[in-house]
Amino acid sequence: MSERKTTLCVFCGSRHGAQPAFADAAGAGAVGRSLARRGWNLVYGGGNVGLMGTVADAARAGGAWVTGVIPQSLMQREVGHRGLDELHVVPTMHVRKQMMAERADAFVALPGGLGTFEELFEVWTWRQLGYHQRPIALLNTAGYYDPLLAFLQDTVREQFVTEAQARLLIVEREPEALLDRIATALPAAAGASDLSRT
Ligand code: AMP
Repeated sequence: MSERKTTLCVFCGSRHGAQPAFADAAGAGAVGRSLARRGWNLVYGGGNVGLMGTVADAARAGGAWVTGVIPQSLMQREVGHRGLDELHVVPTMHVRKQMMAERADAFVALPGGLGTFEELFEVWTWRQLGYHQRPIALLNTAGYYDPLLAFLQDTVREQFVTEAQARLLIVEREPEALLDRIATALPAAAGASDLSRT
């Protein structure tokens, strides 16, 4: 019987952003290559635009099984990627996020915009509520998330977020270091998830 592979859920921008670093060696391309090298699979939003397309193509080129999940309404705007191993076209954004989460062993957010923030904070809040125990990570390429991380420290100081909640987020600037830390966090999470309750 073949061993079940780790599936990484990646949230990232539907745009490339202003700096080449977001897509290449320090960003989405490196994450895609690194997860493939580790024998992991990828689940993501299914688009062929921006960093979403970059991470999917890099993972696939490296031999990872790549699954996309995209709402029908976004098939045109985000250009549903036709070169994936699986593309699920689903009725709503909620079904998309649920399906991505159910297939994931860990979550990572790369640089992105409002959609990326929403997806990251949702899985983080689900974790703090005990809906799952999967690692959640943030790739801080080129310090893109420094202002957000500073604000999160403020939220702890102002006592709206606990230290323990803040510590749930794994943060690194380098893709390799980030995936190493996710790998270390994985065994503790195995079998502890139940996202059907959300
Ligand atoms: P963005 O970071 O805004 O470029 O978007 C990245 C991904 O997040 C895209 O696939 C968007 O469709 C998705 N997205 C946008 N809005 C939301 C939302 N409210 N909930 C979940 N995903 C979203």
